[in-house]
Amino acid sequence: KQPSAPVKEPQNSKSNVHHVIGVVSGKGGVGKSLVCGLLAVELARRGAKVGILDADITGPSIPKMFGLSGEHARAMGELLLPNLTAGGLKIMSANLVLEHESDPVLWRGPVVAGAIKQFWGDCAWGELDYLLIDMPPGTGDVALTVFQSLPVEGVVIVSSPQDLVQMVVGKAVNMANMMKMPVVGLVENMAYVTCPDCGARIEPYGPSRLAQTAEAFEVEALGQLPIDPALSAACDAGTLERDLPRDLLPDAVDAVVRVAE
Ligand code: ADP
Repeated sequence: KQPSAPVKEPQNSKSNVHHVIGVVSGKGGVGKSLVCGLLAVELARRGAKVGILDADITGPSIPKMFGLSGEHARAMGELLLPNLTAGGLKIMSANLVLEHESDPVLWRGPVVAGAIKQFWGDCAWGELDYLLIDMPPGTGDVALTVFQSLPVEGVVIVSSPQDLVQMVVGKAVNMANMMKMPVVGLVENMAYVTCPDCGARIEPYGPSRLAQTAEAFEVEALGQLPIDPALSAACDAGTLERDLPRDLLPDAVDAVVRVAE
């Protein structure tokens, strides 16, 4: 069934967002949020004004990654205000509007979709070059609603190397195609481990299938990330912005910039 024609929600008078890019995955746990955070940090390091709309409502991990655990969004009149990270990124997330961040979000699909629309239409984003959307995992109706109601210009797809996930990548690509949504490209996360003693590159899931998968689905390969305990430690400590090594995934950052040109 073809989804109905999109009805895009307008921006409010306190927002001037130039480009909206989604970060998606076919399933949860592949590192979509980490890649979304990484892209935001790298774009900001290049001088852009960047925000993240955490649309992963039931598993929000963006605030913690940026040291905003326990913080709450404030309101300005009718509008929500995004929280600011130490480096000046603007963040809006379900965790910033829940009383306790460990409260489960027991909302049904339409309520989740409504919350995401509000994070776009009722949030004072100010001037932003890029708003990255950490999309809900998978290809369900909430993801569809985001594509239909927010002016997303393209999606970065994140996958991990296991076999099954390649089929799952196909779902994400097909969803984007059905929504007539340009695919910016494919990032392979957790592709290898570097031995801390000898520097050897170990591929726990076997040789990378990034090039092959990208070709099969006719999307651009945007690079690989290793499994790096320092990355997960930085996410857990809320210090990703400070501790993220420079120039990870440069091709992915370039590709996002090209969408905006
Ligand atoms: P998703 O958004 O796809 O559900 P997350 O980005 O939340 O996945 O990642 C899941 C967990 O795996 C997090 O604890 C994150 O810190 C960790 N993680 C993701 N990618 C890496 C990586 N390349 N190296 C180390 N840890 C990672």
